[in-house]
Amino acid sequence: MQNIYNFSLVDFENYFESINEKKFKAKQLYEWLYRKRVSSFDEMSNLKKEVITSLKENYCFDKLKIITKLSDVDVHKYLFELSDGKKIEAVLMYHDYGNSLCISTQVGCNMSCSFCESGRLKKQRDLLPYEMITQILMIEEDLNIRISHVVLMGIGEPFDNYDNVMKFLDIVNEPLGIALGARHITVSTCGIIPKIEEFAKSSRQINLAISLHAPNDELRSKIMPINKVYKLKDLIETIKRYINQTGRRVTFEYIMLAGINDSEECALELVNLLKGINCYVNLIPYNSTSHFEYKKSSNEQILKFFDILHKNNLNATIRREFGSKVKAACGQLRANFEEGKK
Ligand code: SAH
Repeated sequence: MQNIYNFSLVDFENYFESINEKKFKAKQLYEWLYRKRVSSFDEMSNLKKEVITSLKENYCFDKLKIITKLSDVDVHKYLFELSDGKKIEAVLMYHDYGNSLCISTQVGCNMSCSFCESGRLKKQRDLLPYEMITQILMIEEDLNIRISHVVLMGIGEPFDNYDNVMKFLDIVNEPLGIALGARHITVSTCGIIPKIEEFAKSSRQINLAISLHAPNDELRSKIMPINKVYKLKDLIETIKRYINQTGRRVTFEYIMLAGINDSEECALELVNLLKGINCYVNLIPYNSTSHFEYKKSSNEQILKFFDILHKNNLNATIRREFGSKVKAACGQLRANFEEGKK
């Protein structure tokens, strides 16, 4: 039995053809699933009995279980349980431009960034497309809202779960389904070069964000072990090619860690590194957790850093802080739950 939320419209067209039915039934099915949001085949009144019987034999509607929901004025953080008991998180943020959902792509993460909660608990497994799709469906239902933006910045490294993530993108992006525009979806990666190249070739219009966090190899390798495999120079070359191939602007994320990567020298080094690249830098105030020594840079230091970028014509924004009260640091809610602290 397969989960129905694992499949793209094209998959269903192939399925209907394989059972000698007309392809357009896939559109009807998609409409029931993602427009009318029904979760039983018996409600699909324009599909005939034999089709419904075949669907029932092959597909189920299993979703996730909401274990905890922590809320603040502008944010809701969800802890979900998967069918095998494993836990993941998603965070819904109300922005002035819409409702943005940050979803998880794996259970744990193998990238081991030294500041990140998700990596403290190693990857246990990849999420399947339905486990990403149902984060959206369930939160929309729970809050009675429509989500306008999705960012793949929760637990996990999306490009370490490439095929499932691409299928997920095809499903959310499908105009007859959830119909989220590609430009409203952002995939964030720590910099897995071969997958960035594959992504460029796939010519999706999805936004790409790179977790940079340091302007040189020495520092980056210290805080992000992936940098020992894919060096900064190669990463930057890859991004330049990505921009040439896709014509898309790239975002660089830069966490502000007090005394580590927030000096004026670092800011100037960053300016040099990114000179001439069609990008912008998102400065992220570090969301500190009890497990790491790192501290958030002072607001003053963040502004100083920002000013240097700005004066040197590097586009930058400072990310608004959400949900430190609701344990919104990537992977923090799950980590605390697993360790019995809740
Ligand atoms: N693995 C992907 C996506 C998940 S992490 C990636 O590395 O991009 C999403 C972003 O949150 C990354 O930029 C990550 O470095 C950052 N992050 C992790 N822990 C954080 C924390 N405690 N405070 C602020 N940002 C954090």
